[in-house]
Amino acid sequence: MKKKCAIIGAGIAGLTLANLIKKYTDHEFMVYEKDDSLSLEEGYGIQLGTNSIKILNQISFDKINKEKIFQPKTIDIYNIQNEKICDLNLSKFNSPEAKYTTLQRSTLIEFLKEEIYTQHLRFGKKIKEVSELKDKVLIKFDDNTNDLVDFVFAADGIFSNTRSFFEIKKNEPRFKKAIAARIILNSKSEFDINEENISLMLGSNSHIVLYPINKKKELNMVCIMRCKKYEPDNVKHLVQEIILKQNPKLKNIFENEIKTWPLYFTPKIIPSSNKKVFYIGDAFNGFLPTLAQGAGQSIESAFEIFNLLAKDKLGKENNYFEIRLKRAKIIRSRSNFNFFVFHFKSKIMQNLRNLFLKFLVKRKFFVKRYLGKVYKN
Ligand SMILES: Cc1cc2nc3c(=O)[nH]c(=O)nc-3n(C[C@H](O)[C@H](O)[C@H](O)COP(=O)(O)OP(=O)(O)OC[C@H]3O[C@@H](n4cnc5c(N)ncnc54)[C@H](O)[C@@H]3O)c2cc1C
Repeated sequence: MKKKCAIIGAGIAGLTLANLIKKYTDHEFMVYEKDDSLSLEEGYGIQLGTNSIKILNQISFDKINKEKIFQPKTIDIYNIQNEKICDLNLSKFNSPEAKYTTLQRSTLIEFLKEEIYTQHLRFGKKIKEVSELKDKVLIKFDDNTNDLVDFVFAADGIFSNTRSFFEIKKNEPRFKKAIAARIILNSKSEFDINEENISLMLGSNSHIVLYPINKKKELNMVCIMRCKKYEPDNVKHLVQEIILKQNPKLKNIFENEIKTWPLYFTPKIIPSSNKKVFYIGDAFNGFLPTLAQGAGQSIESAFEIFNLLAKDKLGKENNYFEIRLKRAKIIRSRSNFNFFVFHFKSKIMQNLRNLFLKFLVKRKFFVKRYLGKVYKN
């Protein structure tokens, strides 16, 4: 039966779900975004594993302009002094249809908004009040408009405000005592890397990731640094203490504009207490970026909800939470483990880790278990 759905939040999760509903069903839906426009900030890159590419291809991502994406085949792992430790072949998880892909987040959002923008997206919408009317949910927005829907899909990110309207139990995200810094690279010459690959540089209390985001091989660079407090005005000092003390050659790079944001994670994964309300993407659970699966999981969760909706199985006895929980736990444990081992401080632990890494990346069984499970191979 035709249902009416409200999707709250026009990020990767909300827009993916909207595209799937539009393409494959005749349900009515609207995406409600709190901001006045979509965030299309240039330069911020995103990696998509084959698990999410397979889903995106169902909404024609395979037709995207290939100049705007890159498909790296290898991760080169270095120490922060740029000395190579080993490399990991990513292409073994690829299929002819679905390849590991890197691109700008804005390219992905542009792609996802295309079919939705004019008829199914409303800006400047923040929920003011919710109530239940018969078998439906009435949402009132703070601009005094409202919508009466069968289902609410909350895709409003890790700080999901929608939760506060439907849940008594709080699940506040916690600061991971680390920050991410994105640096626009004017010159790549400070690094001795293969620009066709993903470069991962492991340092004490820090790591750096670089990868091409399009065919022009423009590079995205993100540096994760551990710190007790998030003090955006103190970033240059942090860079000096954490990164430049380990590798002074990177000084010029960090003189460029640096954009920072704090890293948060959701401590618990709590089910929705309302049978009409479902959480997807970071609103379901926020992951650390150390497995590059946040967007991938947003896409997967949107796909899982879409499948249940399309098969009319979103009723009382659906298994969305159990399936998503199982998957989120796999991704979360690997992301947390990576975060832990990437940042060893002691030289002995670093050397041991590097030995293990060299050994393990060549072991088919290990790689298949560790990453194959993530990429669903
Ligand atoms: C340093 C870093 C690097 C990362 N790298 C990768 C990577 O390489 N690969 C990867 O897969 N993931 C990566 N991620 C994670 C990824 O960016 C996120 O997991 C993903 O964007 C989450 O998508 P989302 O749609 O759930 O939420 P969001 O992108 O947060 O979107 C939420 C949307 O909801 C809107 N909204 C918020 N509140 C409300 C409200 N009250 N009402 C209406 N709308 C609202 C917001 O404005 C926004 O548009 C990275 C994250 C970080 C921090």
